[in-house]
Amino acid sequence: MFFKSMEIYGFKSFPDKTILHFDKRMTAVVGSNGNGKSNISDALRWVMGEQGAKSLRGDKMEDVIFHGTVRRKPMGFASVTLTIDNCDRALRVDSDEVVISRKLYRSGESEYKINGAKTLLKNINELFMGTGLGRDGYSVIGQGKVSEIVESGGSKRREVFEEAAGVSKFLAQKKDAENK
Ligand code: ATP
Ligand code: MG
Repeated sequence: MFFKSMEIYGFKSFPDKTILHFDKRMTAVVGSNGNGKSNISDALRWVMGEQGAKSLRGDKMEDVIFHGTVRRKPMGFASVTLTIDNCDRALRVDSDEVVISRKLYRSGESEYKINGAKTLLKNINELFMGTGLGRDGYSVIGQGKVSEIVESGGSKRREVFEEAAGVSKFLAQKKDAENK
C-alpha cells in the first residue's frame, strides 16, 4: 500500500485545485516559510479522518476552508481526495486502488466517500484500523509536536493528551452549547 496522489481544493492555502503525485519511495516537499508545506500534511491527515481542529493547527474545523486573501474571496467548502495503491490488499477493500475523499462546507455539513460512494466517518476509521495510518495511526507527526509535548506544562500538556484521547472535540462542543 502506498499513496499515489492527493487532490486538494479549497483546503487552507489551496484555493485552486491542486494535484500532488507521490513517488513510490520518497517524496519531499520544499518551500520557504509559510508556503503551505505543513498544510499538505494537514490535508493528508484530514482526509484520513482527523477530527481535532487543534492538531490541524486551527481553532475550529471551519478553519481548514480557504479563508480568502485581499485578492481572493473565501471558499465555501474544502475538499481533499486521496488515491491509495491497494494492490497488496493492505486495506480491506477488494480493489487495486482505493480513493477516499472528504468535503466540508461552511455550514458544517460534511461528506466522506470511499471509491466514489458516500460513507460515514466510522467506515473511513475502520478502513485504516490496524494499518498504522488514519486518524489514530500516529504515523503523521506534526511540526513541533514532539517539543510541544516535552516542553509544555500544565494545561497546555493536558490539551495535547485531550486531543490524542479524542476528548477535545467534545469539550469544544460543550463550550459551544454553553455559549448558546
Ligand atoms: P514553515 O516552513 O514555516 O513550516 P509551511 O510551508 O509549513 O511553513 P504552512 O504552515 O503549511 O507553511 O502554511 C501557512 C500558511 O497557510 C499561512 O500563510 C496561512 O495564512 C495559510 N493558511 C492557513 N489556513 C488557511 C486558510 N484557511 N485559508 C487561507 N490560508 C490559510
Ligand atoms: Mg511547516
